[in-house]
Amino acid sequence: MSNATEQYYVIGDPIAHSLSPAIYTQLFEHYDVAAQYDAMRVTAEALPEFVRMIPKRHVKGFNVTMPLKREIEPFLAYRDPDALYGVNTVCVHPDGLYGYSTDAQGFRTSLAMHGRTYAGQQVVFIGCGGAAKALVHDALNQHAAHITIVNRTIEHASEFANDPRVTVAPWSELADACAHCSLLINTTPLGMHGVAAQFAAFDFLDVLPKTAFVADLVYNPLETALLAAARARELACMNGLGMLVWQGVLAFQKYTNITVPADIAEDVHAHLVGILERK
Ligand code: NAP
Repeated sequence: MSNATEQYYVIGDPIAHSLSPAIYTQLFEHYDVAAQYDAMRVTAEALPEFVRMIPKRHVKGFNVTMPLKREIEPFLAYRDPDALYGVNTVCVHPDGLYGYSTDAQGFRTSLAMHGRTYAGQQVVFIGCGGAAKALVHDALNQHAAHITIVNRTIEHASEFANDPRVTVAPWSELADACAHCSLLINTTPLGMHGVAAQFAAFDFLDVLPKTAFVADLVYNPLETALLAAARARELACMNGLGMLVWQGVLAFQKYTNITVPADIAEDVHAHLVGILERK
């Protein structure tokens, strides 16, 4: 590797099936940036060693995925307010590592591409993990009218329980929440390739208003059982691939200061659809 080539990584465990190298390699090539982007398996135990080798390998930036999104925090010189619930992008600066999260803005941009915003919406989140918390926080900032968080473990949503615009409910109240919902977002891994757990039933979709929009953060498969059930009920919906593309595009912008227009993001999206369809 020559010194002129910038090195970037996505780190996590497991990492072999990450689509990040495909996203960034396409963008670096398109913008003629001399950069190498690789996936590297890094466990939580190996994270200090990865951080130590950053200067030696000329690392300019790296993306962070499970299980390191919180583990990276002690190594940061700066953490952006967007990364309150986990870091997905780290830029290497002379004075240290700067951590960001582009997940919430990535989801919001994907939503906007489908003609939807949070403003004035009655939003129901299924799940309240790291991704959901960032999205809930963003939805509140973006003036959602009301948010219901339905989670298997109620206590995991406790930090939102005192917000007057948020209701935290057990799984058994999902259908009740859907009756007044205009935007339903699945943030659990239910329906994801390789995950045994599935939604037991989709009767909660029957009570959704006909104009409601259904979003799934899962993108593999491209059409989850939830989205197939929503489509069968003629509900508008989107999978998580747009979020994946836009969180990557927004991270690329942090690395390079290059603003990526929607048509280039669309090319990346099409490339990833091809990869997922061949899997
Ligand atoms: P996480 O922090 O582990 O949270 C997982 C959430 O799912 C928790 O609320 C958990 O409930 C719930 N859950 C897990 N298994 C369940 C089951 N069998 N039944 C009911 N609820 C269950 O994960 P995360 O980082 O937030 O990611 C969540 C999902 O979003 C993953 O599928 C991830 O791949 C996806 N994601 C997609 C993108 C994208 O770009 N499209 C970006 C980030 C994440 P408890 O609180 O009860 O444990």
